[in-house]
Amino acid sequence: LADTYDAIVLGAGAAGLMCAAVAGQRGRRVLVIDHNRQAGAKIVISGGGRCNFTNVDTAPDRFVSANPHFARSALARYTPADFLALVERHGIAWHEKTLGQLFCDGSARQIVDMLLDECAQGGVEIALGSAIRAVEHGEGQYRIGFGTRAVSAPRLVVATGGPSIPKLGATGFAYDLARQFKLKVVEPRPALVPLTLSGEEALFRDLAGVATEVVAGAGKAAFREAALFTHRGLSGPAILQVSSYWRHGEAVAIDFLPDRSAGWLAEAKRSSPRATVRSVLAAALPARLAETLAERLALTGELANLSDAKLAEAGRRLSDWRLRPNGTEGYAKAEVTVGGVSTAELSSQTLEARRVPGLHVIGEAVDVTGWLGGYNFQWAWASGWAAAQAL
Ligand code: FAD
Repeated sequence: LADTYDAIVLGAGAAGLMCAAVAGQRGRRVLVIDHNRQAGAKIVISGGGRCNFTNVDTAPDRFVSANPHFARSALARYTPADFLALVERHGIAWHEKTLGQLFCDGSARQIVDMLLDECAQGGVEIALGSAIRAVEHGEGQYRIGFGTRAVSAPRLVVATGGPSIPKLGATGFAYDLARQFKLKVVEPRPALVPLTLSGEEALFRDLAGVATEVVAGAGKAAFREAALFTHRGLSGPAILQVSSYWRHGEAVAIDFLPDRSAGWLAEAKRSSPRATVRSVLAAALPARLAETLAERLALTGELANLSDAKLAEAGRRLSDWRLRPNGTEGYAKAEVTVGGVSTAELSSQTLEARRVPGLHVIGEAVDVTGWLGGYNFQWAWASGWAAAQAL
């Protein structure tokens, strides 16, 4: 005979632990199942080990989704201030870095311990280290076989995240389950991920290690942050951010000199006619990058000998340099996955599947993906909290 619960949560990650803790504290009997031996593996390594656990500037426009309004309800009902209050109740020291990002002063492990403590306060049972064998649904009950056990509950919460970083135990299980229940899945792809360069652009790989502040754009999105050249292509926060919007075959536009006006090279010609393009670029950019860009612009000699038209054209290229990545570094290096279970299938209030009563999908498994900077955890907390209100 199966052990029965009020709700079973699949995945002991950020969203699953939050959902289980809140539902448990609301008096529900909750079981969390995870195939990893450790709960919250991604939280532990997040934010360089300090967990960028939320962002005070959280707003629906900081998320990529086929339905940009979907996240609004959950984000409004469980806010960064709510999570911060929880962090403070647990005496975890924190600080604000740049761009509204909140981090632990100490270790990301404190966030996992906090969530496990909250689960314990709610009497939540957590079963780690066993693979899920089967999920069945009938007569208002979800029956789960895992390890040597069989359990059942009228509500099932899918919180198994996306396939980014398989070596941490990440899988596409949520998508398989969605398909089993005939829910649409928006095609997943790796995001917040370095981009790779090949062919002629591979020359930029000689700059591996060079970083500079740029505005990087793809599609309608643009981010002003650091870009980093790597031995495979491009990384750094500006590039990770645009990777969530970039599509294969498209160019990434880079403004290497976001603070310069269009005519600045012509102005430099008047003030320093004996200077070269390379030397004026070197005053504004890392030397190796200045050298490579000057070579590619193929403008040699003193500014005085170059026409204003040529200098204007060079200025335009420097502010809108088109690179065509041939791919990304893939799920092995992606911090998140865009796409996932279609928001059209889910209630934005309860994250319950409209056509499958009692089935909820939360966190990264859903087609809601945040920018870099604590937004993904805030979505995990908020969607987990919202689902827990309905369990
Ligand atoms: P997860 O936290 O990934 O949890 C999913 C759980 O499901 C895991 O425990 C997994 O073991 C389990 N699972 C998966 N498949 C199965 C299966 N088949 N059977 C049983 N269990 C399964 N976001 C931020 O906001 N701030 C950061 O600082 C930050 N840093 C990051 C750093 C790195 C290196 C990475 C990879 C991601 C980072 N993220 C960050 C993103 C963030 O970690 C995720 O968006 C977030 O963890 C998603 O929460 P989740 O609960 O949906 O999924």
